Amino acid sequence: MGSIDSITYRRFIIFAGLTVTLLGILVIFGWLTGISILTSIVPGYYPMRFKTAFCVAVLGMALLNFKYNNKVGTPVTRILALLITTCCSVALVQEILAYTTHKYPLFNAYKQAISENYIHPGGMSALTAICFGVVATSVFIISTSKSYYKTVLQYCLHIVTLVAFVVLIGYIFNVPVFYRLSYFTAMPFTTAIALLLLSVAISLLNPDKGIAAIFSGNLIGNVMARKLFLPMLTAILSIAYLHFLNSKYQWIEKELSIALLTISFIIIILLLVWQTCTLLNKLHLNKKVAVENFRLGVESSPHALIISDANSNIVHINPHAEKLYGYSRKDLAGNNLEVLIPEKLRQSYRSMNENFFKSPKVISLGIDEELFAKHKDGTEFPIELVLTPVKTSKGNMVLTSITDITQRKTNESIIKTQLIELKVKNRELEHFNYIASHDLQEPLRTVSNYIMLLEEDYPELISADVKAHLQAMGAATGRMSHLVRSLLDFGKLGNNRTLTLTDCTLLVNNVIADLNSLITSSNALITITTELPPLYAYDTELRQLFQNLINNAIKFGEKGQQPQIQISCTKHNGFFMFEVTDNGIGIDAEYREGIFNIFERLNKNDNFEGYGIGLANCKKVADMHGGKIWVESEPGNGSTFKFTIAALKP
Ligand code: ADP
Repeated sequence: MGSIDSITYRRFIIFAGLTVTLLGILVIFGWLTGISILTSIVPGYYPMRFKTAFCVAVLGMALLNFKYNNKVGTPVTRILALLITTCCSVALVQEILAYTTHKYPLFNAYKQAISENYIHPGGMSALTAICFGVVATSVFIISTSKSYYKTVLQYCLHIVTLVAFVVLIGYIFNVPVFYRLSYFTAMPFTTAIALLLLSVAISLLNPDKGIAAIFSGNLIGNVMARKLFLPMLTAILSIAYLHFLNSKYQWIEKELSIALLTISFIIIILLLVWQTCTLLNKLHLNKKVAVENFRLGVESSPHALIISDANSNIVHINPHAEKLYGYSRKDLAGNNLEVLIPEKLRQSYRSMNENFFKSPKVISLGIDEELFAKHKDGTEFPIELVLTPVKTSKGNMVLTSITDITQRKTNESIIKTQLIELKVKNRELEHFNYIASHDLQEPLRTVSNYIMLLEEDYPELISADVKAHLQAMGAATGRMSHLVRSLLDFGKLGNNRTLTLTDCTLLVNNVIADLNSLITSSNALITITTELPPLYAYDTELRQLFQNLINNAIKFGEKGQQPQIQISCTKHNGFFMFEVTDNGIGIDAEYREGIFNIFERLNKNDNFEGYGIGLANCKKVADMHGGKIWVESEPGNGSTFKFTIAALKP
């Protein structure tokens, strides 16, 4: 169903503006040059008077000058319109004065002028003056005035259209009384055409007012009006004109002509009814399908849905809502929605409902505030609502979609409780870790002290074998002490973290500087291959991560080969991905996950010192940055440790 768009209006307005301007100019030219055919255009018809032609030309130009797009007439438009209004008012006053004083100088002057082919045949008739006055006032007022004035003027314009139309019919069917509507002078054919075009074009500048509104718009009535009016008008005029010609030239008998006229009108009416009914049926079918689809959608929706009117009367409730509230459809039909709302919330519901109907739009409720519904058995349950305005033939209604969030709330509270428990457990664990590590140090220190005492106080008892055993014991206790300390550090890692804007290039360069002696002794070559970004990170912890990875990359280098390490960073989907690649001994596929667990080591021989805690620390740091860490490696061909860091904000 297409609507008349503004382009079509625009085209018609330009066409009307151009036609009437041209017409006015031709007539003026006719009067000035004495070419009489130009003053009447149609031979034998009354000529358009000079003053009228002037009005026609100026109004045509005003129409062309009208800025249709923004609906604001330019000052030029308004000045032209004002000029014509004044001109018409003067003409009208002249006519009235002439009439009331029972002298008709203008009429006589006009008659005389015609007979003498005088170029200025006096003023226009009262009717023409009124019509042009209305058209000009409309042009003047259209862009500035209130809607009320526009409506009044729109109907005045329609009257002008009607008058012009009646005059034209008068000419077509040769009925002088139709074109002699004013008391003495006839409205010329060309004037009627100009008035018809002008009044229709100007009424289209306000397409939502008056009869113009019937022809614009998208509703079925508008479509039908557009489709039917012109063809019907043409058909009726043509048939009537044929009948008129027949009565003039007597082609066929009068009775036959009337019978044919009757048949033609019946056919026209039939066509009208046919087209109207087809359109209405199509619309009805579309409506039926839409209603059925809507009904099916509501019935089969997995959500509880209730349709209610502005007074909260329940119009429809779907099976899911029946189940949720424990009521049957019959129980609720026609009842007030408030039965489903706990008493304490009814007042706020009323004001919410009132506001909703004041400016209907989709709204969600129950997300920021707590909302409850009431079951038939009186129990209350938490809900979330989505209110959607629905237009029906019985007025505006609201479609409420209700989601029971009891389960979600329960889950949330379980998660909350578990989170609290987890925090308590974590704190206990940290405490235990601290106490255990601390307390374990003590006996270790005692053992190593006694080893020292034994060696110092009883040298004579200590044979070479015993000495070796004691040294092994010392080394083991030292190692255990280191492990315990590492465990303590692991537990403490990130305890006092603060998120700061960290320049990663600076951070990595600092790590390289700290590892200077290791790098020099191993002759390692470290290259930063891409720009390392500034980002928000826990810098102390991130530093430790890089330190562990670079340290390992050097430590687990291939014997007799210069360790070469590349560091780079790329950004993917809101994450920074860092890579530390070495040319070291590599890692077997089966160990690539395990090495990130605490105390997990692959190379337990003396060639590679360590406690298996470095990568566990790295994993903890990546986790606390919302990222992860993994390794890609091939034994004998080096490894690439990759870790991600979420683009965090403080
Ligand atoms: P540590 O270095 O103290 O042994 P880590 O947790 O840092 O402990 O490393 C765990 C194990 O992962 C190491 O023992 C080693 O076997 C393996 N590993 C770590 N980094 C590398 C690397 N760059 N190349 C080869 N193996 C590595």
